[in-house]
Amino acid sequence: MSRSAHPAGPRHADVLPEGHYAAPPADLNALDAKVWAQTVSRDGDGVVTVGGIPVTRLAEEYGTPAYVLDEADFRARARAWRGAFGTDADVFYAGKAFLSRAVVRWLHDEGLNLDVCSGTELVTALSAGMPADRIAFHGNNKSVAEIERAVEAGVGRIVLDSFQEIVRVAHIAQSLGKRQRVQIRITVGVEAHTHEFIATAHEDQKFGIPLAGGQAAEAVRRALQLDGLELIGIHSHIGSQIFDMSGFEVAAHRVVGLLRDIRDEHGVELPEIDLGGGLGIAYTSADDPREPHEIAKALTEIVTRECESARLRTPRISVEPGRAIVGPTAFTLYEVGTIKPLDGLRTYVSVDGGMSDNIRTALYDAEYSVALVSRTSDAEPMLVRVVGKHCESGDIVVKDAFLPADLAPGDLIAVPATGAYCRSMASNYNHALRPPVVAVHEGKARVIVRRETEDDLLRLDVG
Ligand SMILES: *Cc1c(COP(=O)(O)O)cnc(C)c1O
Repeated sequence: MSRSAHPAGPRHADVLPEGHYAAPPADLNALDAKVWAQTVSRDGDGVVTVGGIPVTRLAEEYGTPAYVLDEADFRARARAWRGAFGTDADVFYAGKAFLSRAVVRWLHDEGLNLDVCSGTELVTALSAGMPADRIAFHGNNKSVAEIERAVEAGVGRIVLDSFQEIVRVAHIAQSLGKRQRVQIRITVGVEAHTHEFIATAHEDQKFGIPLAGGQAAEAVRRALQLDGLELIGIHSHIGSQIFDMSGFEVAAHRVVGLLRDIRDEHGVELPEIDLGGGLGIAYTSADDPREPHEIAKALTEIVTRECESARLRTPRISVEPGRAIVGPTAFTLYEVGTIKPLDGLRTYVSVDGGMSDNIRTALYDAEYSVALVSRTSDAEPMLVRVVGKHCESGDIVVKDAFLPADLAPGDLIAVPATGAYCRSMASNYNHALRPPVVAVHEGKARVIVRRETEDDLLRLDVG
């Protein structure tokens, strides 16, 4: 029988699921700094605190489930990326990871730029005072209305994703009497995930214009001819949750090759290159992400070396980290509702949220860790699967982890590293009310995105 034949995992206790922790951690009360936000620790009573506030107080005041975000950590990470790349490069935070007006203000304060991929992300950014020229607009199917809005607002760049969009943006810019700064997103045949990447000639995906078959070169040819466009550079984004820099190496080599061909054919050296985002974070203690300064050094060296050998001036580099900035800064706080030991298998721990607040486990088979945060415990470790309250057996938050065997209904548990792609991908499945995002900073907590209410939901249902 296949080890994964049963949807809930192995049938036999002696067959551990793939990717399972080999053994329980030495100390179940310990909080690995790699996966928890910077200011998280336990107080004298064993209660986890963040920004100096006990989670028990946060649960009382704001309810559960709730995303709790460490503002100091967010700012520190944003600053670290900004500092690592210096003033000769640009850091665009990928807003799709998690966007709110407070976040936009923090980014603005810390000198970062912002990527948006929809008209409504753009509105959020503008309404929080992000200057339009620090915003980049992405997407493989931007509507005419979205493009008009972006051009009118004066966004710093639109990243062109198709041949249709090249003429569409050019036409809109021209009819508004503007010349829009654009990059062309190309696919270089590199797909990177975690510790592996695949380099091919072709890439089978919806984003970007393939370098293969001269398509990217043709896109450049057309963009250079259109009065409404100012082509400033080439864009490449190769994947997500990447730890290994060699995928970027191949991508940079191929992008610089295109820049060289452009120079040879048109006599223009494009001034910018964007290498996208996708840098990995630690979801569990097994992950070892790199520091921003290491990433900056590696990327800058790669591009500089490739440009030297192509005899090109080194373009201005930009990067677009989303997860690497916001991911580690938040955890999801849940209350335990039911505990169901399945003999010889594992114990199912049900929480008051689930796939509506974290779809990543179901969608990507993502790994998370979990800890008891309302108290410490000396009980033995028990193998658990943390599940939600939704009508779906795939409603899993944490596939396999250990919690103390004396876990009881009413205990608070928290899943760290949920700052990215959790609230932003949250749904109303089973008419769940999407949880709030509570930002904590220096002993103060405030709601930056409030919890949905029954009225919010019913308002949309017009009968
Ligand atoms: C999603 C995305 C990013 C951010 O990816 P992370 O994994 O969050 O760093 C950056 N650039 C583009 C074009 C993207 O689509």
